[in-house]
Formats: sequence, C-alpha cells, structure tokens
Amino acid sequence: MRYAVFGNPIAHSKSPQIHQAFAAQFGLADFSYEKLLAPLDGFAGCVREFFAAGGGGANVTVPFKEEAFRLAHKLSDRARVAQAVNTLKCLDDGQILGDNTDGAGLVADILRHTRINGRRVLLLGAGGAARGVLEPLKRQHPAQIVIANRTQAKAEELSRIVQAVKCESGDSRSFTVGHYGFDSIQGEFDLVINATSASLAGEGLPIGPSVFAAGALAYDMMYGKDETPFLRQAAAAGVTQRVDGLGMLVGQAAEAFALWTGHHPDVAPVLAQLRASL
Ligand code: NDP
Repeated sequence: MRYAVFGNPIAHSKSPQIHQAFAAQFGLADFSYEKLLAPLDGFAGCVREFFAAGGGGANVTVPFKEEAFRLAHKLSDRARVAQAVNTLKCLDDGQILGDNTDGAGLVADILRHTRINGRRVLLLGAGGAARGVLEPLKRQHPAQIVIANRTQAKAEELSRIVQAVKCESGDSRSFTVGHYGFDSIQGEFDLVINATSASLAGEGLPIGPSVFAAGALAYDMMYGKDETPFLRQAAAAGVTQRVDGLGMLVGQAAEAFALWTGHHPDVAPVLAQLRASL
C-alpha cells in the first residue's frame, strides 16, 4: 500500500501526517505515504515510475494539477468539470484514474456547520480552487451560485460552466447563477466562500458587508494559526460563523483515502490533531 503526494515545492505538505493518521484508524500497518518532489518539467515521468514500481495512488498539488488531468487515462465527472486532478489511482488494468476531491472536501466541511441545499452561495475567485469546487457544490442543490472575481471575465466563464453541470433529478428548478466583479456584487448570500489567494497576500477583498445575509457562514479556503484576513473582514461585518480551509484539506484527503482503500476515515480527530499542530 504505497501512496505519495507529488508537488513542487512539497516540503510543507501536511498530507503524509493526515494519511498516516487515517491509516492508523484502520490498523493498516503496511500503508506508506511519502512526499515526492517532482521536477517542474518531469512530473509525468515521476508519476509513471511511481506506479510502475507498485504505487497504488497519489495526491497531486501545486503546480501539477492540470498536468495530472492530462495524464490520467480516465476521469471522474468532477475532475472533468474542474479540468484539474488532485488524486490519482492505479486501476487493476494498469490505467490511471484521475479524480478531484477538493470540492467534496469543501462540501463535507461546510455541511459540518450548515446546509447548502436551498441556500444562496457567493463564490469569490475564479482560479483553480474555485473551478474545482463547482460540481460538488452544485450537487448540493443550492438556490443560487454567484461567482465574483477580480478579473470579471473569468467569473463569467465559470458561471457558464456551473450552468452546464448536469445534476441528477432533484436539481433545483429555481437554481440561478450570476457573475460579477468585486465592486458590483448584488444581493446577499447565506454562504460566502473565499477561493481567491488574497488571504495569502495578507489582504481582505473589496466587497461590502451587505453581501453577508443574516446568519451567513463565511468560509476561507486558506487556513493558518491566526484567523485569515477574509475571515477578519467577515467578523467586522458581524458574521459569527467563520470557518477556514483546514477542514477542506483534511476532507479532500479523506475522499482520496476512501477512493484508494475503500475505508472512510473519521475526519474530526485528525482535523483536531492538525489544528493543534499549526
Ligand atoms: P489560482 O492562482 O488558480 O487563482 C487565484 C484566484 O485568486 C484568482 O481568482 C485571482 O483573481 C484571485 N486573486 C489573487 N490575488 C488576489 C487579490 N489580491 N485580490 C483579489 N483576488 C485575488 O489559485 P487557486 O485557485 O489554486 O487557490 C486559491 C486559494 O485556495 C489559495 O489560497 C489556496 O491556498 C486555497 N486552496 C485551499 C485548499 C484547501 O484544501 N484548503 C485547496 C486548494 C486551494 P484573478 O483571476 O483576477 O487573477
């Protein structure tokens, strides 16, 4: 049971800690998980070598998620929508399956705090992380998904994609979708998700406090020891439910672990352990 995470850089990755903790929950003594630094121009070769040597599955992080999408022989629906892959699995016939578990990790984390069904969702950002969560978010049947981005044309493109995502019957007929630049967002939202990297730069976003409906939940995909700039901004707007992306990180790992091993780990103790180690 040999697994790994590929990235560049990779030293910072918490994935080995998370997956070893999951494996311990099921007593998988022969489970191993390592960090592998792939050269920027040598990702595909490293992955093929890993699987040829008996690797069962791998996670993929920055900057290789799009390359992993192109490398996979088969793709899950959510990976196809995301056009990016963060999880690879070697199938019995030797082919490589590409999946994207980021959105499922986000949804599972949000559902620990509030429902998504019937709610108005504002997704801030239109980069890889935003695109990766569109399909799983829409599957929860929100009433509305509005995307706002600094570069408005990218928000427009993602809103076309989310509109095209097919959900099974039960898909809300009243589902609406919209797109804005940050300075022109209209309406108020029950769930405001920051998928921009502004918090990484220590910045809040140029959005007004009125985007947060009464009782709204603010979610920042970024996480850290201290509250992120976006969550501080939400606090100043009176938002009491504020969640950072550490649970999303553990949630996406749990989905990958289940895909590889068939075991569904308990996220809560691993999340608590990770939080304490920040
Ligand atoms: P990308 O580089 O693909 O996209 C960045 C996005 O942020 C774009 O929409 C960009 O807007 C916007 N942006 C960047 N800087 C600013 C700024 N100063 N003000 C406003 N908008 C800004 O990054 P990703 O989508 O891959 O990652 C986004 C965030 O999500 C990161 O913080 C990352 O750490 C986090 N993440 C967390 C995960 C988790 O498990 N918790 C998983 C994956 C990502 P524009 O289009 O105008 O350039």
